[in-house]
Amino acid sequence: MKNTLEIDRLSTYFYTEEGTVKAVDDVSIRVREGETVCIVGESGCGKSITAMSVMGLIEGTTGKVVNGKIGFDGENLLDLSKNELRTIRGNEIAMIFQEPMSSLNPVLPIGQQITEPLMQHQKLSKKEARLRAIELIKQVGISRAEQIFDSYPHELSGGMLQRIMIAIAISCHPKLLIADEPTTALDVTIQAQILDMLREIKEKSNMSILLITHDLGVVAEMADYVVVMYSGKVVEEGEVVELFNNPKHPYTKGLLKSKPIINQRQEQLYSIPGQVPNPLSLKESCYFHERCAQCMSICETQQPKLKEVGGSTQKVACWLYEEGIADV
Ligand code: SF4
Ligand code: MG
Repeated sequence: MKNTLEIDRLSTYFYTEEGTVKAVDDVSIRVREGETVCIVGESGCGKSITAMSVMGLIEGTTGKVVNGKIGFDGENLLDLSKNELRTIRGNEIAMIFQEPMSSLNPVLPIGQQITEPLMQHQKLSKKEARLRAIELIKQVGISRAEQIFDSYPHELSGGMLQRIMIAIAISCHPKLLIADEPTTALDVTIQAQILDMLREIKEKSNMSILLITHDLGVVAEMADYVVVMYSGKVVEEGEVVELFNNPKHPYTKGLLKSKPIINQRQEQLYSIPGQVPNPLSLKESCYFHERCAQCMSICETQQPKLKEVGGSTQKVACWLYEEGIADV
C-alpha cells in the first residue's frame, strides 16, 4: 500500500513570553492509502498542532515548524508556496473540526458554501455545482436536501452541520481527510451515525483519514493504526488490535483503563492520577514519569526513545522495554 501522508521527524514549537513550548517534538506518522490512523491523547499533547502543521496552518500563529518533512503525494508540503498549499488544502487534503460553526460562514446559505469550492477547485458551472451539492447533501444522510441547500447554518443542529462539513470535505474527492475531534461536541447516537458514515465514505473512495481524538471509543470504532501522544511526543504506536489487546506504555494502559466500557457498569471510572506536565518546564526525562507508578530512577533523567518491541507492529518509548534497564 502506498503512503498518502508521511510526517517525518516533525517538530513544531511555539514561542511565548515565558519560553519555548515544544508542542510537537520529533514526531513521525505515516498514513497509507485507504487507512485510518488515529492520534490519541489528552488535550494539550500536540495532536491538533500536528494536524495544523500538516495543513500549513501554523504560520500566522506564534508557532513555527522548526524541523521535519511532511510528504504528501511525492512532495514536501513544507516546501510549497502559500498558493500551492491552498490548492492542495480543501482539494486533495480536506479537514473537519470539532466546531463546524467555526468553519462555516453564518451569513451565507449552506448551498453556497458547498458550491463555491466545487466551482473553484473542480471548475463546475453554477448549475452543475448545485446538482452536485444536492447529491452530496443526500450522500451525508440528510433528506430534504433542496430545503437544506437554501438554509442558513443557524437553522441546523450540530449533527446536521457536521454532516454538511463532511459533505464539503469530500466534495473534491480528497486523498486525505484530517478530522480533529469531529464528533466530540455531539451526543452519542449522532456521533455513532457520523462515524459510520465516515467509515462508509472511506471504504467507497479509498480515502485516507487522520483522525484526532481523545476518545478511545472512537479509536476502537475507526482506527486501523493508533498513535498515542503525550507532551508533544509519540509514546506508543501500533495496529489497533495489538495496541488494545496488549498496550505497553503505562500511559496507554492508563488511557485504556479510563475508557468506559459500554454495557458494563463500572463503580467508578479510573482516571490517570496527576496532570500533563507544564510544557514550559520540561526537562530531559520521560515526560510521564511524575504520573507513572513504575517510574525508575533513569526515567527522571533520560528520555526513552521510541523503539520497536519484539515481534509486533508496536513501538514504545519507555525504559521498561529497554533491555537490562528494568532489572537494575
Ligand atoms: Fe514510566 Fe519510566 Fe516508562 Fe516513563 S519510561 S512510562 S516513567 S516506566
Ligand atoms: Mg485539540
